Amino acid sequence: MAEDVSVTFPGDGPGEVLRIAAWRFHGSGSGPVVHLQAGVHADEIPGMIVLDQLLPRLATAERRGLLRGTVTVVAQANPLGLRQFRQDRLLGRFHEAGSRNFNRHFPASIAHPDATSFSAWQSTLYALSEGAEIVLDLHTDAEAISYIYVHRDFWPKAEALGAAFGAELAILWDFDNSGAFEEAAAARLLSHQGPQRLTSTVELRGQADTDPATTEADVRGLYDFLGHVGAIEGADALPPWRGIAVPIQNIETIFAPSAGLIAFPLPLGATVAAGEEVARLLPMPGKPWISLRAPQAGRIVTRHRDRIVAKGGVVVKMTGNGPSARYTGGALDDSP
Ligand SMILES: [Zn+2]
Repeated sequence: MAEDVSVTFPGDGPGEVLRIAAWRFHGSGSGPVVHLQAGVHADEIPGMIVLDQLLPRLATAERRGLLRGTVTVVAQANPLGLRQFRQDRLLGRFHEAGSRNFNRHFPASIAHPDATSFSAWQSTLYALSEGAEIVLDLHTDAEAISYIYVHRDFWPKAEALGAAFGAELAILWDFDNSGAFEEAAAARLLSHQGPQRLTSTVELRGQADTDPATTEADVRGLYDFLGHVGAIEGADALPPWRGIAVPIQNIETIFAPSAGLIAFPLPLGATVAAGEEVARLLPMPGKPWISLRAPQAGRIVTRHRDRIVAKGGVVVKMTGNGPSARYTGGALDDSP
């Protein structure tokens, strides 16, 4: 039986208490301590379903004596964001009460846990991962192929993680002070020695990618990854990773030069030449279309979820073969 390690913190309203549900499976003690979470940005559904489906498998492994590590599962990490329904749509990513991106400010908020509901949430969530040697933060992009973020010091060891989720791309980053959960975890993990240290932001495709076959492949992959790191006995071996690793400097983020309607001439994952059109933007009917073009040769990784975008919104992210002329450090989609 999993231990209930759910935690609470003060919400935005007077006297309000919010709860983060969390399960902890205790193995024999011979394996690593693992923290798995999904939904830091709130509207990231595929990872939540993957972790829901993983829970009974962990319970079975524990019952059969196959669990060696300690595994904590936080399947819906963000109750602040889960309350932000507007017109039948969940508005994740930013905390409405304070306009902050949910996955920024992590080290700062941990240091000031009582300042706001936002910092209370961040410090409460982060505390669940302290002591973990392997920390996986499952996110979802708007529309995307499967990809992972990994600090370059964890590469190529993290190839196994890419294989587990069928990731076609690994984005290798250095510290940039954007304050993502993964960055806070990496700062902790890289400062001490140990054979199994790893943290990653795993982008499980797009918000709509919840079909059962894809979910099942991800659950199996994650289970086998837990076997790979020695947290579970008897899991299947992972296949070799078949993707490309790209430094974060090589990612091209293409922002909307004006608000407008979007049409995509190419599918996700398409390989494009330098100068090839990756999106068309219609500022308003009766005006000329604007062609958004690839700054260099590469591959389309993500696309905007809706077919209308605000000025400055991210329309496409793509890999490039060389460094992006526009990369200035920091997270990829923090404004143009
Ligand atoms: Zn996210």
